[in-house]
Amino acid sequence: MEPMIGSRHRLPPSDREPVRVGAVSPLTISEWPGRVCAIIFCQGCAWRCRYCDKPELVSVREPARLGWQRTLAMLEARRRVANNVVLGGGEPLVQRNLFSAVMQLRERDFQVGLHTAGIFPERLEKVLPWLQWVALDIKALEEDYLATTRVSGSGRKAMASLERMLASAVPSECRTTVHWQLMDEDRLIRLADRLAAMGVRDYAIQLARTRGNLDPGLENRPAPVNTEALWKEIGARFRRFTVRETTRPASREVNQGFAVP
Ligand code: SF4
Repeated sequence: MEPMIGSRHRLPPSDREPVRVGAVSPLTISEWPGRVCAIIFCQGCAWRCRYCDKPELVSVREPARLGWQRTLAMLEARRRVANNVVLGGGEPLVQRNLFSAVMQLRERDFQVGLHTAGIFPERLEKVLPWLQWVALDIKALEEDYLATTRVSGSGRKAMASLERMLASAVPSECRTTVHWQLMDEDRLIRLADRLAAMGVRDYAIQLARTRGNLDPGLENRPAPVNTEALWKEIGARFRRFTVRETTRPASREVNQGFAVP
């Protein structure tokens, strides 16, 4: 059961800027399946995925582009249209005070979702009870992670996060971003097998953008010939299976969605 939000959770003034906001998209239907929501793109990430399509959000040194209080004011102004807020990025959990951000949103009666790559399993565990939904990006078989994230040990972290997410009662989606230079059919089927065996029920494939990636050396490899058969084979392992043509909006579009009240 979800914990109660009470006065003991009121935050000290020092937590009034809990995250660095890189951008905000105030209204979207594509970031939380079935819900109209706003999304806050937190600045900074600890990994350097070659296919990352928002390179401007990766640096942890980049200053905030929008203050937290102003972000909250913008969300409040639109809450009749979107009472759901997704914390995305970048990697939201790279922000040490993300818990405070979640609490401030919950205190204002927003429903809160999280996009994460599972980089910080312990931080994820701390915020999980306060969330209404989580989307966890599982990028590859654990042993293949380094080729995508360029960070050793990243697969172990992601799997530890997946275990915590599945052990919680929070509705969740597991998703894999596929770039055909970094993934092949055999590996994708083996990954789907592994995820299904771990207890994943809702799974999505997101086809990576092939322009504007963090690694400009990635080639635009064509998809395998019979992807429909591949999706059918993978989808049979899950209760719900979705294929999305692209990941989140490209950086240019993120900035177009950036709104200031
Ligand atoms: S794809 Fe996600 S986890 Fe990877 S570098 Fe980009 S923001 Fe970080």
